[in-house]
Amino acid sequence: MPTCPICMTPLDTVRQREGLCYPCHTCEGRAMTISQIRHVMGNRLATRLLRLIRLSRLTSRHLCPFCVQPMLAISTQGPFLALETCRACSVVWFDLPTYESLPELTDETTSSMAMQATEIIALNRLKELKEREEEQRKLEKRRKRLHRDKSGDPHKERT
Ligand SMILES: [Zn+2]
Ligand SMILES: [Zn+2]
Repeated sequence: MPTCPICMTPLDTVRQREGLCYPCHTCEGRAMTISQIRHVMGNRLATRLLRLIRLSRLTSRHLCPFCVQPMLAISTQGPFLALETCRACSVVWFDLPTYESLPELTDETTSSMAMQATEIIALNRLKELKEREEEQRKLEKRRKRLHRDKSGDPHKERT
């Protein structure tokens, strides 16, 4: 049975629709295979992680839950993620804070977030436009009133 690389608790095996996930119920970290990551978090992240795994030379002090060899430490920039991985088992270990920050990184969420941002910008622009229109209308009214006052009875202003 695989054990947690952090707290040595035996890991659970959870069958998900996309494959297997190995969570630790003590520290709430989890091991995931690359193919599982690809399914759950999108192709872009999985490909990026695979490239990092291939390039990594930095040995972690934690052991792979499956083959009990030291894992490799990998990190991504923008967004920053610090992960541990076993190349032989093609498995990635996520600690809880890292895992919780992940849903925001999947392709789908990122693009829907970008869409939301565009929507907000569009709404703001519309509001701005309306405000400007309103401003223009007020100006127009004032100008008309001024015009009326000037063309009106000249004695009226003095009284
Ligand atoms: Zn644990
Ligand atoms: Zn391994």
